[in-house]
Amino acid sequence: MESRAQGLDVGFRMAVQAQADILDGAHRLKYVRDFLVGLENCQTQCAFFDFCRGAQAANRYFENGSLTTTETNYCRVSRQALVTALSTLATTEKEPAA
Ligand code: SF4
Repeated sequence: MESRAQGLDVGFRMAVQAQADILDGAHRLKYVRDFLVGLENCQTQCAFFDFCRGAQAANRYFENGSLTTTETNYCRVSRQALVTALSTLATTEKEPAA
């Protein structure tokens, strides 16, 4: 007879396997491929990619209408402006007088 813990373990392993199967087939989904195109475009076209990593999928879709796009209002104000401001501060801030 299977204990409750053994039943939970079997259920957990089945859920993990189902997730692995889903991920294995993800590349066949158009929206996943589109997202990866956008990610590659960010990487090749944007100077902020090293900081941002380009993963603003929802904003790409809802602001620009496509997951293949790159720049959004969200990334301009939350990523690009932040890096630009910190970079400006770092290059213009003076050492305090001793
Ligand atoms: S800042 Fe915007 S355009 Fe640049 S990598 Fe991030 S999401 Fe892409």
